[in-house]
Amino acid sequence: MTGHGQHQVVIIGSGPAGWTAALYTGRANLKPVVFEGAAPNVPGGQLMWTSEVENFPGFPHGIKGPEMMGKFKEQALRFGTIVHQENIAKVDASKRPFHLTTESGDVITCDALIIATGATAKLIGLAKEMELMSAGAGVSACATCDGAFYKGEELIVIGGGDSAMEEAQFLTRFASKVTLVHRREEFRASRIMLDRARANPKIFFETNQIPHEIMTEKKTVGVFEKDWLVGLKVKHTKTHKEEIISAGGMFVAIGHTPNTKLFEGLLDMDDKGYLITRGQSSKTKIPGIFACGDAQDSIYRQAITAAGSGCMAAIDAERFLAGH
Ligand code: NAP
Repeated sequence: MTGHGQHQVVIIGSGPAGWTAALYTGRANLKPVVFEGAAPNVPGGQLMWTSEVENFPGFPHGIKGPEMMGKFKEQALRFGTIVHQENIAKVDASKRPFHLTTESGDVITCDALIIATGATAKLIGLAKEMELMSAGAGVSACATCDGAFYKGEELIVIGGGDSAMEEAQFLTRFASKVTLVHRREEFRASRIMLDRARANPKIFFETNQIPHEIMTEKKTVGVFEKDWLVGLKVKHTKTHKEEIISAGGMFVAIGHTPNTKLFEGLLDMDDKGYLITRGQSSKTKIPGIFACGDAQDSIYRQAITAAGSGCMAAIDAERFLAGH
């Protein structure tokens, strides 16, 4: 890593919140340092898995998620942002300046820290789930990213919230049939989203069903033979009857986990791990540490709200530095 040493502002995370915080602190001449992350984290965050973003103002015809994140970064670089493609492994806030240690052991210090580490899609935890997902072999957590690969297939969506309804609805553009598997009778989804899904003739509901086992078969892809999902074994919560739902793909839409493990024991979090900020600000309980984006927002979780809170964190950091 280059650029060790002392900095005024370090930003961890490179989604809409991180880059917006960088843009604002950069324009305030604070020469921000962004740790944009390295594997297994994805620089750019969740939008890197999104095909079309249609609800970010200023792009009337939509824009591809990765292209949008490229533009965010370009704009932040224009104002002097320094970027490291590394993960931060440790934050020591017991002394000032704060000491941050990277995964490769380098230490960097800063007067103000902006956390913009985002959130990650949750998985069910079934055997083979992760393996098939990373191999792109029938398991996905993002319909907008992968839906188009499943033209004419029968698909499964797991979950009972708005995400599941939205994913199921979206997938009917490509699939011949979508089976929505939910573990309860009642849905967490909003009435309007549920009604829309129910009105869609391609969407079928399997309620009170617990995902139990992923069924696979060997499939030849080019010169390789690999395991592919061909169905999901589910177990009824009341009758305990097992059943296999055949499908060419399975989309997991059961919510997100904030990427805040690094701050356990350091900062206040809610029961799901979202960072708690004070009032209408990005201030955490430690003066000089600010949080923005999906790492502290369990409610809105939109690119535009993340960007807005990144701006708030930058302004809060700027005022903190001016006062110290
Ligand atoms: P969510 O509301 O927390 O729903 C998660 C769903 O997944 C629940 O139905 C839950 O079942 C189920 N689930 C969780 N863990 C599971 C497991 N291990 N196995 C099987 N099922 C499991 O999450 P979300 O749908 O992602 O929504 C999160 C927030 O974003 C909500 O506030 C939502 O309104 C919002 N959102 C809004 C929109 C929109 O308005 N366009 C779109 C997407 C999301 P239980 O119900 O049994 O717990």
